[in-house]
Amino acid sequence: MTQDKAVLLHGARDLRAGRVPRGEAGPGQVRVAVRGVGLCGSDLHYFADGRNGTNVVRAPTVLGHEGFGVITETGPGVPGDRLGERVAIEPAAPCLRCAACLSGRYNVCPNHTCLGSPPTHGLLRESALVPAQFAHPLPDSVPDEVASLIEPLAVATWALDRGAPVAGRRVLVTGAGPIGLLVLQAARAHGAAEVVVTDLSPERLRAAAALGATTGEGPFDVAFDCSGAPPAIRSAASALAPGGTLVLVGVPGEPEPAFPLQLVQRYEFDIRGCFRYGPGAFATAIAWAADGRVDLAALVTSRFSLDETAAALEAALTDRSQLKVVIDL
Ligand SMILES: [Zn+2]
Ligand SMILES: [Zn+2]
Repeated sequence: MTQDKAVLLHGARDLRAGRVPRGEAGPGQVRVAVRGVGLCGSDLHYFADGRNGTNVVRAPTVLGHEGFGVITETGPGVPGDRLGERVAIEPAAPCLRCAACLSGRYNVCPNHTCLGSPPTHGLLRESALVPAQFAHPLPDSVPDEVASLIEPLAVATWALDRGAPVAGRRVLVTGAGPIGLLVLQAARAHGAAEVVVTDLSPERLRAAAALGATTGEGPFDVAFDCSGAPPAIRSAASALAPGGTLVLVGVPGEPEPAFPLQLVQRYEFDIRGCFRYGPGAFATAIAWAADGRVDLAALVTSRFSLDETAAALEAALTDRSQLKVVIDL
């Protein structure tokens, strides 16, 4: 059986070069030769601890879910003229059969898996088979250097959908990692009156200021928590204006954090969950990267080769000045 070169995580800090089966493009599938993969907080958790929340690495798994590449094979039912297309990969794998999927909300599918979420192999390998509709064509105006950032940008554009409307409103973003910095840019592109960003790291606050964040006090009409840190979630809730909206983008670090529910009741706050991205988010992200509304290059702080993946993960884990680390294949 033909196999692809890959890097596999065997357990905490145990990353090894290996091979995975290539398979064949089935009905509705395309093969994407992977060209670049961005490392994400979840990859760092799996690498550092062998787990992310409740999901534990039990068998060697290929990490990586933020990727792009070129279509090199089309399965039955996929137009052959897609061969050679540069595409951003939407890594979610919803069942497309349950009530949530059939209603169009495929990101909240309870049977949903995601590339790079153990035990499902991710993108740090030569090629991957994906549903043709989840291989999103990239225009030439999105260069290879930033194409793997379309996935986190799709998270940000989806967060903006969940927090809509933001035009003319005061916005708070808690957490200035890559997602927070993308939500900041997306909110400004959507016409937010002001975007205040908070973080504990001075380096990250400097990056936010360079991208247009201001400093200021509440109240805020819309808050996006991109940190998952319970104290940040509480302070965001407490800084909302009456009738304000809080969007939970980061995964809360505790299953049941203390939360000011009396304020939620008294001031009719809306608390909205936000999980990955729903329909249309990738198309929006690609359009915004293409027309320069969002600066993706500002977030890329270093690049490594596939053979250097372990060093790349260590750098991303230990150096707080790193924003997005990209693996070039
Ligand atoms: Zn990610
Ligand atoms: Zn489903």
